[in-house]
Amino acid sequence: MKKILEAFVEYIAERSNILQVVSQYTTLNRDKRFYLGRCPLPFHNHSEKNPLVVFPDENFFFCNGCKAGGDVFKFISLVEGISYFQAVELQAQNLGIDFPNELN
Ligand SMILES: [Zn+2]
Repeated sequence: MKKILEAFVEYIAERSNILQVVSQYTTLNRDKRFYLGRCPLPFHNHSEKNPLVVFPDENFFFCNGCKAGGDVFKFISLVEGISYFQAVELQAQNLGIDFPNELN
């Protein structure tokens, strides 16, 4: 069961583009190997201007303002206010990938 779950999370992660996901919430501008944008996270203090940084090659983001960081699912969970696992499910749905029956 745990193995199936881990494999599923990995499968969705491999098919997820963190740039494309973050771009749905904020405008990103390329700066060499990474992308910068205004942090869209709900708990971010928007009076301060430190940017959110996305590293597409590493499938990783980090905000210099609110110090949030992690992978694509972590981003979705924070921006949508849902759990990490719900973020995996949501991203799977967005990619049109069915949840494995073994996990239902
Ligand atoms: Zn932030």
